Amino acid sequence: MPRFIVITGGVLSGLGKGVTTASIGKILQSKGFSVVPIKIDGYLNTDAGTMNPYEHGEVYVTDDGGEIDLDIGHYERFLNMDLGKENNITTGSVYGEVIRKERRGDYLGKTVQVIPHITNEIKQRIMRVAKKANRDFVLIEVGGTIGDLENMVFVEALRQLAAENPHKFLFVHVTLVPTIVSGEHKTKPTQRSVRELQSLGIQPNVIICRADKELSKNIKEKIALFCSVPKNSVISNPNVESLYEIPLIFEEQGLSDIIFKHLNLKPRAQDLRKWRQLVKRSKYPHGEITIVIVGKYAHLEDAYLSIKEALHHAGIKNDVRVNIKWVEAEDIEDAGPEKYLRDADGVIVPGGFGARGTEGKISAIQYVRENKIPFLGICYGLHMAVVEFARNVCGMKGANSTEVDPKTPYPVIDLLPEQKKTSEKGGTMRLGAYKCEIKRGTTAYKAYGKTQILERHRHRWEVNNKFRKRLEAKGLIISGINKDRNLVEIIELRNHPYFIASQFHPEFKSRIERPAPLFDALVRAATPLSK
Ligand code: GLN
Repeated sequence: MPRFIVITGGVLSGLGKGVTTASIGKILQSKGFSVVPIKIDGYLNTDAGTMNPYEHGEVYVTDDGGEIDLDIGHYERFLNMDLGKENNITTGSVYGEVIRKERRGDYLGKTVQVIPHITNEIKQRIMRVAKKANRDFVLIEVGGTIGDLENMVFVEALRQLAAENPHKFLFVHVTLVPTIVSGEHKTKPTQRSVRELQSLGIQPNVIICRADKELSKNIKEKIALFCSVPKNSVISNPNVESLYEIPLIFEEQGLSDIIFKHLNLKPRAQDLRKWRQLVKRSKYPHGEITIVIVGKYAHLEDAYLSIKEALHHAGIKNDVRVNIKWVEAEDIEDAGPEKYLRDADGVIVPGGFGARGTEGKISAIQYVRENKIPFLGICYGLHMAVVEFARNVCGMKGANSTEVDPKTPYPVIDLLPEQKKTSEKGGTMRLGAYKCEIKRGTTAYKAYGKTQILERHRHRWEVNNKFRKRLEAKGLIISGINKDRNLVEIIELRNHPYFIASQFHPEFKSRIERPAPLFDALVRAATPLSK
């Protein structure tokens, strides 16, 4: 039977529970243990697929086509593992399943209730993932804040599981320790939220305190006393430059010893040496470049979290700090690209949906193509690059994606015939990992170093095969295709330092220990030798 670590949050949301969970996992891995994470979300959506990135940050995509909470991305990046739909449990998916079972008559005429039917469903799901993964540790992050009505039933299910499996559970509570004007750290919110957790029948074993700086010994002792945890089990989580430092900070405070002691385990020798080196490289790079991201949710960095991380990873590998400048595509429509892109070492046009801002993206792409600025287009970015090329190089006036202009004379980006038939929102996307075959001798081949790759998708529209010949005749190179369905996956240009766009999202598979090849190559191209 594995050990379970449950991570809850208190005081307020947005304290980085996802990163905390991932960091605990990293430490355990570094001590020779295997882990599997599960994210619990209290919302009623079945998954994050229909959620607006303005409200909830990026929709993360897994190999199996899961459209998932962005915390799963933190887990994959820290733990260097591929996860899937079953690693995310939402209220919507649990209730949906219980209601289906009720309709099927599985409950044999019993009154179906939150306790025990919903709680049992939650417990079964957790145990199913645990059993299938067969790891030493199961990490369970409970989204939201303790006291929210939304996550009560999950907390109750976890309390029951812990009571049924004594000595197998450890509870970690993440809280905020604010600073007041005098510079003093205040512990009352932490005390209150631990009380709240205790009133639900859970005594935390470790308290991790987010604060602007390290907590003093005094403050740690005060929290320990009021919250009934040992003094060494109050861990400081101060502001840091790079998220990847957090496992190191926890370990300096002896977190793994506390975990092993509580769960009666002996660590197997290993350490975080390689991780420490990567973090050091990220903090003291030898150069600096600026990548401009022309997007639609540009003021909300969480909407492009994985791109930000992928650039960070590529920066570490290439020994440069990557400064990101976010530009709203609509601003380029108003003022032209020159003003925003003049100083860019590289430009990314990321994924997106809908017509707003597309003309700004297209003029940004024209600018980087003509001025030979390294460019990476992702998904919608590929669509816009094809539209730009069709209009300005092939002379197809008014070319567009039918997503933007259904009546365009040149629908170079279009829905596949089978997609046109269904009108269901959320149901017809090409989702998850698909094979892509790369042509030898291309920029894409140089980046990946192989001909067969597997990358993640989330889109409905595709390059229209009817126009392929005309685009290729004018110099567009189709360097990656999905052979099974004859779909364009990568395009690029010759006579340009780096101009490439992918139908898939390479950012979802980027890891600090293994940067995504297309980002790595972008950063390399954007780093002049003198930087
Ligand atoms: N809106 C485009 C489509 O649905 C691109 C989606 C994306 O960029 N993820 O095909």
